[in-house]
Amino acid sequence: MAGRDVTKLEKVVKEIVDDMRHMPDRGMVAAYIPELARVNPKSFGIAVIESDGNTVVGGDADVPFSIQSISKVFTLTLALGKVGNRLWARVGREPSGSPFNSIVQLEREQGIPRNPFINAGAIAVTDVILSSHLPREALGEILRFMQFLADDSSIMIDHEVAASEHRTGFRNAALANYMKSFGILDNPVDFILGVYFHHCAIAMSCRQLALAGRFLAQFGSNPSTGYAVVQPERARRINALMLTCGHYDGSGEFAYRVGLPGKSGVGGGIMAVAPGKASIAVWSPGLDAVGNSQLGQIALERLAKEMGWSIFGA
Ligand code: GLN
Repeated sequence: MAGRDVTKLEKVVKEIVDDMRHMPDRGMVAAYIPELARVNPKSFGIAVIESDGNTVVGGDADVPFSIQSISKVFTLTLALGKVGNRLWARVGREPSGSPFNSIVQLEREQGIPRNPFINAGAIAVTDVILSSHLPREALGEILRFMQFLADDSSIMIDHEVAASEHRTGFRNAALANYMKSFGILDNPVDFILGVYFHHCAIAMSCRQLALAGRFLAQFGSNPSTGYAVVQPERARRINALMLTCGHYDGSGEFAYRVGLPGKSGVGGGIMAVAPGKASIAVWSPGLDAVGNSQLGQIALERLAKEMGWSIFGA
């Protein structure tokens, strides 16, 4: 980098990548489907995009991985665009304090999922997107939305992952059927699950995810394209939900340690936003006991601390 000083962000990202390479405890890679089980646990990637578009990446930032539950942020955005606040008649906005695929809460709460980021809630959100569409069209809409947000038409669905999810997704089928019995879902359960499994199977790199998350970091608009994706109020509210519910029963811990709205997936990715400052994505496939990326959380904790980005102050 002759002729130019290394910025603080570049220095911090480089240090994080160097340190993460040698971390002995990397968590456990998700093993419920073979496609996730065989991902190299040594992978680590990070991408940070600041408000002015300045992009700093490190490690495996351009390697695509299964975004899994991170897709739930984007399906929520789409569903809110379709039905607005009517969505909240069938999905709550409270942290669940339960595992992402828990079924017990649904019985106590008449089939209404606690929030849009646990599996049951995301299935209900997918049902909203599916209404008045064929599954193929709904899925195309979700994928095109991701491509539009990241300004990258190469983003694809990993059909092997989707097929494996379908083959093994008995618990998600149970959640969907259970909600259906309460009249929470409008469409056939098979159709909803098909779309749900496929949007979880979208493959993206850290760089692509950080690009896609820019509108949430920048008050609803993407400063590079000038497109307003949602109103600032909606971006704020989606961020509030990511902060309180984005890491399942690890959400409190993530807020405590990192202090940024973020959403994790069992593929080991985390997308996070420092409002007004940066959109961030990290990836390390090993998970902690509640299913959040072990090193991803450590990396974000370091980044937020060093850059002074926690929404709660220094
Ligand atoms: N496809 C996964 C599932 O439904 C997503 C879960 C996750 O990423 N936490 O079980």
